[in-house]
Amino acid sequence: MRVNENILISSLTTIRLGGPARYVLEIEKPEEVREAYAFAHQYNLPIFVLGSGANSIGHDEGFKGTIIINRMRGIYEEKLEDSVKLKVMGGETWDSVVEYACNRNLTGIEALSKIPGLAGAAPVQNIGAYGQQISDTLTEIEVYDSVTNGYKTLKKADLQFSYRKSILNTSEKNRYFVISITLELKEGKMPRPFYNSIENYIAVHNITDFGPKSIREIVSKIRAEKLPDPKEKPSAGSFFKNIYLTNEEAEIAELKGLPIYRGEDGNKINAGWLIEEAGFSGKLLHGIRVNEKASLVLINESAKSYNDLAKARSEIVGKIYDKYGYWLEQEPVEIK
Ligand SMILES: Cc1cc2nc3c(=O)[nH]c(=O)nc-3n(C[C@H](O)[C@H](O)[C@H](O)COP(=O)(O)OP(=O)(O)OC[C@H]3O[C@@H](n4cnc5c(N)ncnc54)[C@H](O)[C@@H]3O)c2cc1C
Repeated sequence: MRVNENILISSLTTIRLGGPARYVLEIEKPEEVREAYAFAHQYNLPIFVLGSGANSIGHDEGFKGTIIINRMRGIYEEKLEDSVKLKVMGGETWDSVVEYACNRNLTGIEALSKIPGLAGAAPVQNIGAYGQQISDTLTEIEVYDSVTNGYKTLKKADLQFSYRKSILNTSEKNRYFVISITLELKEGKMPRPFYNSIENYIAVHNITDFGPKSIREIVSKIRAEKLPDPKEKPSAGSFFKNIYLTNEEAEIAELKGLPIYRGEDGNKINAGWLIEEAGFSGKLLHGIRVNEKASLVLINESAKSYNDLAKARSEIVGKIYDKYGYWLEQEPVEIK
């Protein structure tokens, strides 16, 4: 276990905000997780488990506690009768898992290409994009349980996945440290129809290869056109969640003229559309730029503090509520 002291959270997160964390512990072997928790308990310090910080935000005063990061790497493959099992250590970069699977012609996660972050964080908010979610292919995870101080396996059903949710960020938030994740993938292709933007791209570019590698390339190009690269433009990706409505609420929203997307996962209003319609696209608010092409993304262009971000957030949330009557919910997690 590597022990680091007084590390700026701004250097550990992609939106690059936040003061120092008292301790940052980096885990290189499963048995070290227990040691890391014991270390924090010994000094009575709160714990925050961090991956690559692509969905986490630090506060100006920092974190007077212990950040624990999974640095265990490795992808282990096992052939099953008509599928392939991939056990991935949680410190592996998520996109390298997608690349590995696509190179092996395995389908199931190709649309999740280029999502920043580590594999261990992927089940936490059930990462999703372009019609796939990790819950479609994840079968189990290995965890350290901070309540029982033991190691165990949680099956997919235990995790209660839904849109951007699992027990890891709801009912059992802060309880488990994800050591590894296991996916079950098949050789072949994603079923059609694909997500709209993939279908459009295919039509415009006359693409006829729909294998995992080709879909990965398409998704990567679509994302590069729309989404800022966090290395160049600090952000935490989508800052707000889309809004899910019951059938009754969806009918009322439609009567108000709002566009409702009715998909397998329910009735949805695109929060980015609301932000655009409210006139925020491209605007600079307290050093935070509302991304022009994908308005859900807030870029830290020149914010001096978390406080600047908070001011920008309340302007957006307030105006959307006044105009449409919906409270936008923040997607990234606060380190506190
Ligand atoms: C430009 C950009 C684009 C993005 N696009 C998408 C997208 O298309 N779809 C999508 O779903 N997300 C997207 N995101 C959000 C982000 O990529 C995902 O949430 C990703 O899973 C975060 O991984 P991370 O390692 O950086 O997590 P972190 O931000 O470090 O952590 C996120 C949460 O997971 C917890 N966590 C992390 N590691 C572990 C672990 N080992 N055990 C237990 N808990 C853990 C943390 O406590 C925290 O609550 C995007 C972000 C950016 C910056």
